[in-house]
Amino acid sequence: MTTSLDVTPAPEGAAAEGPLLEVRDLHVEFRTRDGVAKAVNGVDYAVRAGETLAVLGESGSGKSVTAQAVMGILDSPPGFVTRGEVIFQDRDLLKVSGEERRRVRGARMAMIFQDALSALNPVLSVGDQLGEMFTVHRGLSRKDARARAIELMERVRIPAARERVRQYPHQFSGGMRQRVMIAMAMALEPDLIIADEPTTALDVTVQAQVMELLADLRREYHMGLILITHDLGVVADVADRIAVMYAGRIVETSPVHDIYRAPAHLYTKGLLESIPRVDRKGRELYAIKGLPPSLLHIPPGCAFHPRCPMARPVCRTDVPPLYRVNAERTSACHFWKETLGVDSAAADHPGA
Ligand code: ADP
Ligand code: MG
Repeated sequence: MTTSLDVTPAPEGAAAEGPLLEVRDLHVEFRTRDGVAKAVNGVDYAVRAGETLAVLGESGSGKSVTAQAVMGILDSPPGFVTRGEVIFQDRDLLKVSGEERRRVRGARMAMIFQDALSALNPVLSVGDQLGEMFTVHRGLSRKDARARAIELMERVRIPAARERVRQYPHQFSGGMRQRVMIAMAMALEPDLIIADEPTTALDVTVQAQVMELLADLRREYHMGLILITHDLGVVADVADRIAVMYAGRIVETSPVHDIYRAPAHLYTKGLLESIPRVDRKGRELYAIKGLPPSLLHIPPGCAFHPRCPMARPVCRTDVPPLYRVNAERTSACHFWKETLGVDSAAADHPGA
């Protein structure tokens, strides 16, 4: 819960600051015995300080692999970045030394995973794990590190932090354990946090609390936050912008509210309409028919065409570029104007 009225103005000059992270034309493939899986096929996205970007898409669309390439934790082999740039604070992280990369990863960007239980060390108390961040990276004494650990636990709103600091991960509930992970990620006050399905394993009420905590911390520390999820329902209140992924590509980017009002891609529309809603009770939910393609054999043209209710011949042959819908939105649909409900004939042929 945010206290009283949130009167914090939009971050000063956030727009003028330029992006904190800019991913450009990123390509990642996995060379496996079955062939080459093209997991990421030219992803572009940017995050500014103080901004939350939600990356949305069905399972297998390349969301996590993109994040792993950004963090420099790609499973390689079999995974390889074959093209692209990851510009973070004005440096291409794909070109810096391994040592430099580790420094950035420890202190400037951090990741939160879905499964806190396997990401935390089961035989170290939570306090020791949090404390290690400060003894190892900041050279603090054990005593000071312990005090910082308690402070961090309080900051992520774990009740009775002073007592719980001695406990082990398995003694925490799922939601509290996720808070410990958030505390670990926050310890060195990074500029960017990537949270990969951070609430997927939690029940709905706890999900909302953890999301709210992330949103509050992001605001308080003016961090960039990339929130990866397959659930459009959880991001409406916390994200500023959304990037929708399909078969390793971004198919739509938009400020969050516009996308709910009027999606510019039929895949996004399908995702939106498959969110259960009280006011649609009794009506059949529109589910996107079919399955996402195998990344070993991505369909030609628009990868979504076999599942698209509006596919035309051109969709089977021509890969749609990311069309600019307006200053803040893009769509990789040849027929985005129709999807948006704009008179495409008039817009396409102004002279006709
Ligand atoms: P998601 O959008 O669900 O996060 P991922 O980014 O994890 O999807 O994965 C995208 C695709 O990349 C997978 O469907 C798979 O084909 C491939 N992939 C991911 N990790 C590996 C791996 N370690 N080895 C082989 N292929 C992988
Ligand atoms: Mg994933």
